[in-house]
Amino acid sequence: MKQLDVGGYENWIFDWSGTLVDDLAMVIDATNHVMRHYQKPELTRESFRMEFRLPYMDYYAEVLPGVDLDELEEHFRKGFADSEASGVVSPLLDHALDFLKELQSRGKQMFILSSMDAQAYHKHAADLGVDHFFEAAYAGVLDKREQIHQLIATHGLDPEKTVFLGDMQHDVDTAKHGGIGSIALLTGYQNAQQLSESCPDLLVDDLSEIKKMFNDTPSQ
Ligand SMILES: [Mg+2]
Repeated sequence: MKQLDVGGYENWIFDWSGTLVDDLAMVIDATNHVMRHYQKPELTRESFRMEFRLPYMDYYAEVLPGVDLDELEEHFRKGFADSEASGVVSPLLDHALDFLKELQSRGKQMFILSSMDAQAYHKHAADLGVDHFFEAAYAGVLDKREQIHQLIATHGLDPEKTVFLGDMQHDVDTAKHGGIGSIALLTGYQNAQQLSESCPDLLVDDLSEIKKMFNDTPSQ
């Protein structure tokens, strides 16, 4: 895999779940709350990681055909709020805060592009005290590919100097669709084999690996 000049990226767009926060347990609880409501079998952690995909309407169209998406999202929000995992585990991933601070100190612009329910995202980001890092946050985005061009245009970003970081194939596909760099992380919902299928520019174990690449590159 080629060595990316990560220091050359001025604009860093982050996915949220599995990229900055460890909310997999909460998302599985919420998903199983949905499954129970519609009398479907619950998912284990492994089956969720193998089967769940974005855009989530495609996933739910397959497992819960004909179910109204707004109604389904209501059940998801309830399950998410009631999750026993909530409040037990600090959902910020290792290295996430350190990495955001690193980018801030280098004067980089940061954004959020997430499918996570917008209310849940804003509450979480505020609770964790990380919301101030982001120039803008686009949450509750059903298909990120449909949002990426608008995000780039709205903020006048140079695609050559912009990168999207995420933990799912849909994130990598979105970066490619937007003509920007793609970094896939193994801290979230999909494994290396799944992520490699979308051919990210870079695949790393966690954010500390990217920080190390920063430090190996002289700042400009
Ligand atoms: Mg994610």
